[in-house]
Amino acid sequence: MSKSYGFDTLQIHAGARPDPATGARQTPIYQTTAYVFRDADHAAALFNLQEVGYIYSRLTNPTVAVLGERIATLEGGVGAVCCSSGHAAQIMALFPLMGPGRNIIASTRLYGGTITQFSQTIKRFGWSAKFVDTDDLDAVKAAIDDDTRAIFCETIANPGGYVSDIPALAKVADAAGIPLIVDNTSATPWLCRPIEMGATLVVHSTTKYLTGNGTVTGGAIVDSGKFDWSASAKFPSLSAPEPAYHGLRFHETFGALAFTFHGIAIGLRDLGMTMNPQGAHYTLMGIETLSLRMERHVANARKVAEWLENDPRVEFVTYAGLPSSPYYERAQKICPKGAGALFTFAVKGGYAACVKLVDSLDLFSNVANLGDTRSLIIHSASTTHRQLTEEQQIAAGAAPNVVRLSIGIEDADDIIADLDQALAKATA
Ligand SMILES: *Cc1c(COP(=O)(O)O)cnc(C)c1O
Repeated sequence: MSKSYGFDTLQIHAGARPDPATGARQTPIYQTTAYVFRDADHAAALFNLQEVGYIYSRLTNPTVAVLGERIATLEGGVGAVCCSSGHAAQIMALFPLMGPGRNIIASTRLYGGTITQFSQTIKRFGWSAKFVDTDDLDAVKAAIDDDTRAIFCETIANPGGYVSDIPALAKVADAAGIPLIVDNTSATPWLCRPIEMGATLVVHSTTKYLTGNGTVTGGAIVDSGKFDWSASAKFPSLSAPEPAYHGLRFHETFGALAFTFHGIAIGLRDLGMTMNPQGAHYTLMGIETLSLRMERHVANARKVAEWLENDPRVEFVTYAGLPSSPYYERAQKICPKGAGALFTFAVKGGYAACVKLVDSLDLFSNVANLGDTRSLIIHSASTTHRQLTEEQQIAAGAAPNVVRLSIGIEDADDIIADLDQALAKATA
């Protein structure tokens, strides 16, 4: 597939070709665990990584491979590894970089579940995260030490309406000789392509906009192929001999594809966070209409945010697409087609009014998800951000008086009317 095709073409065709066995036009769901080897030599070559092919679906599967290539192409990367969830993708992204005693610099403005994963769970591996306000580049530089192995941020941070200055963070990462990892879940490659701005790795929860209709969980890690893993001794998993493959060096052997091959041959093989072919099928169906949906998501979000901002029952709206947002100018540079469809607003009346609002809505669903065709709402402080301290909640943009919206692709007038009637009840 020519990489010169436009986004709308690539979201339908990249990675896919008519099925060689049957000519099936749609990508078949290869519902198989294993693949028959041509002969013993073929099997040995596959196990030695001397030939690329299918062995067992914990490692690779043809349906999942089409999705990986599609996402890599849309992001402008050289390869991608698909995983069972976005959180799996985050662990898989860090795994080749980290080891006991190593740390990452993580933005204070991340998805609540990611803050928990990074502040608590990764400690069990001997890894740690230093949370830093990534708008303060001096603070980011100061936090980097000899054990730092990556900087991690989100393009449009969920849920606070923050936009990361990806080019500036990429420069800091470059100067320190470490990769910048960008979670591009809430922007999608249609709104932002972090690799073009200097990111080394892009991670996704494909659960959200890429699938788009709330059917399956999944994740992906896209590699830019641009990082020199052998420039220092910091990344031995990629640059040093690998004992489990007779001393093979991934970077020397696979070049730009080193991270992707390591993700499959070591990451999926031993951590087993594999995406299944049914899941990949649903996400492939969703991705075909990504640009059409995102265009509508963004147009609706803008209308709803403008309406809310002018409503006296609302204290403030944090949408980077509004000129009142401190991130408005940056959003024009980082995601000029729109600031996504995910934002928060504060209800006059605080925690109690937020709870009443959520319970009074008809069209909106109260769910812990985002990026669905349906409009969704959640009161983060009592749910997704419940495990955080109030200080962390406020830092993450999830204060007790704030609700988060994920604006769907319904009629904008219906979305606004529903918020109007529920706000009336919540603030009565
Ligand atoms: C949902 C989400 C995740 C986690 O993804 P799962 O698929 O739920 O594991 C990570 N980052 C962001 C920005 C998300 O929205």
